[in-house]
Amino acid sequence: MPLPLLFALFLAFGLESAGPFNPLTQAELGSRATAALGLVALVSLASMGLGLWVSTRVARTGHASNALRRGYSRSARILEISILVSFSVIIHEWQWPRVVRTALGAGPVAVVEEALILLPFVLMQLVSWWGLYPAEKILRSGFGVTRTAGRGRYVLLRARQTLGLVLPVLVVFSLGQDLVSRQWPELSASAWALPIEVCLMGVLVLVLSPLFIRLAWPTRPLPHGPLRERLEHQAQRLGFRCSDILIWDTGQAVVNACVTGSLPRFRYVLLSDALIDCLNDHEIAAVFGHEIGHIAHRHLLFFGFFFLGSLGVLALMGEAIDPPLLALSNVLGGQSHPVLGMIIQAATVLLTAGLYFLVVFGHVSRRFERQADVFGCRAVSCGQVECPPHLDLDRQPGRESSGSGLCPVGIRIFANALTNVATLNGMEFKTRSWRHGSIARRIAFLEGLEGKPEAVNRFQSDVSRLRVVVAVGLISAVLIALATGSVDHLR
Ligand SMILES: [Zn+2]
Ligand SMILES: [Zn+2]
Repeated sequence: MPLPLLFALFLAFGLESAGPFNPLTQAELGSRATAALGLVALVSLASMGLGLWVSTRVARTGHASNALRRGYSRSARILEISILVSFSVIIHEWQWPRVVRTALGAGPVAVVEEALILLPFVLMQLVSWWGLYPAEKILRSGFGVTRTAGRGRYVLLRARQTLGLVLPVLVVFSLGQDLVSRQWPELSASAWALPIEVCLMGVLVLVLSPLFIRLAWPTRPLPHGPLRERLEHQAQRLGFRCSDILIWDTGQAVVNACVTGSLPRFRYVLLSDALIDCLNDHEIAAVFGHEIGHIAHRHLLFFGFFFLGSLGVLALMGEAIDPPLLALSNVLGGQSHPVLGMIIQAATVLLTAGLYFLVVFGHVSRRFERQADVFGCRAVSCGQVECPPHLDLDRQPGRESSGSGLCPVGIRIFANALTNVATLNGMEFKTRSWRHGSIARRIAFLEGLEGKPEAVNRFQSDVSRLRVVVAVGLISAVLIALATGSVDHLR
């Protein structure tokens, strides 16, 4: 799920102010729509400027320096944040939902209304992709990616990747809200309604993701050939089943892989087109092994359980922080500023729930990524503690034995794959990512395991212990919430 989009959904629908709806005048309607369009035009100009600047710099010097890449990825991130800030201004300062409601008149369909509310954000994203295209193209061309898509196709692909996920999520979200407000009106009035809905949506998205992804992303089966044979042999050797291995067409924009679906029948492994073009077969097999690792260690299932169990944690947190929060918003907002009080309350709730996910989910997620990394190394290892000579287990028909240990060459292959993926995606080695940690540390960790099977065992039991601790914590939170009636507090 694209993160900016998640924020945009929060901005658009998370802090909706209740209260009677009074339509705008025609003049107000016109001026607000023009102002919103003006912001879209500004974003478009800024991104075109950035795209042009990078492409002329590279054209003049003949290569893209690291400083330029860094500068570009930083500026692109600032642009992304400015889009969110602009969208927040459009929504809250100019009351965009009110503009939409006035324009639509009475009795609109909720989904249409929500789509129009989101429209300024979508437009700003489209024009920014359009503007950044020359920079994206020239920065990728340095890595042997020759077949880049044309500008229109590039924007379309990115839009399909993002919006193809938005539409189903939006429908689930709005249907869910309708259902909740009809069945449990008190819950939908509570500030905790949103975090709880996000939890439930997390579970739903996990369950439905194979369907969404096939709808949203253009994919085709990986054709028969040496690569497919290698991956299928590896899958069989490691006891992994899926319904297909797919090439994910991104117009060479994405170097990535993912696995989706907890059940083998609805499970796909997606390898992006650029990943297949830029990495060698051994490295692709290592990345494939990482994805198998997520399934072999049941990470997706654990995340589903995590989201459900977090309902209990959120209930207890609500119990703990609501009274002081109410007092605070009374002091700051008082009866005279009910809207301010509501914003403070909503912001604190979002912040607490966000912090919980950032810290706990982030930590578990990083451990799981490491576990998948170790599995990826194992998948391309020959199982001998010392090599070369390194045996290629997937080139020897009839060889079913799966080496259970890591070998030096296997670790090297995986580290190379990781390095290539990072470089191709313009990532920096030292920069930490919330879900993955930094590339440099991931590689250092794997290299530290070389020739030390006992260190691997220690790591595996550490992760198992973490799972048990988190599971016990979540289950007790749910039980305590049920026993003390904190759950009632959510209703
Ligand atoms: Zn992973
Ligand atoms: Zn080996």
